[in-house]
Amino acid sequence: MTMDVEKIYKEAGALLEGHFILSSGNHSNRYLQSAKVLEDPKRAEMLAKELARQILESSLEIDTVCAPALGGVLAGYELARALGVRSIFVERKEGQMELRRGFEVAPGEKVLICEDIITTGGSAMEAAQIIEKLGADVVGFAALANRGFCRRQGSDKTTKSQCKLPHDKPFYALADFEFAMYSPQKCPLCAEGSTAVKPGSRGN
Ligand code: ZN
Repeated sequence: MTMDVEKIYKEAGALLEGHFILSSGNHSNRYLQSAKVLEDPKRAEMLAKELARQILESSLEIDTVCAPALGGVLAGYELARALGVRSIFVERKEGQMELRRGFEVAPGEKVLICEDIITTGGSAMEAAQIIEKLGADVVGFAALANRGFCRRQGSDKTTKSQCKLPHDKPFYALADFEFAMYSPQKCPLCAEGSTAVKPGSRGN
């Protein structure tokens, strides 16, 4: 019984269709405005519960969920609630990811890194590095949406070279959102005469 995640994103206005400039500079006919799917707390809770169910089924032990701010905070908080564990976040200060605000991790604490969306996993890896530097163990990664560069648990797709997540740790996500991407020079939408728009700051 799988949840129709794409339908949920569409109904939330989080999956846009049109002609967009992605953070990479490439163009696409689809765009994930992933914060939109969490603006309804009931929907956020429902998505997080489904993600938690998949994680619990795999018997992964987790003490704490840690999210990279800002994008991951709501998803991480809801996932922590669904798992019944602690929720913390790391944030950027002068470009460097840091654990601030009195948050601490203990040596050996089992931490799951959670994002709203994983593209190549760059921010998630920065968060993981901070957590491990502080002596805790990163046991896995999770995201509500996966852009399809990294292989999520239960998927028969392969990990692409752009994926920055480690291959020896599980990555859980509700769905893959793989979009057609075009270089601006070869974009069929541009060729039809339409103009690409940039709907968000970083393509997520
Ligand atoms: Zn275009």
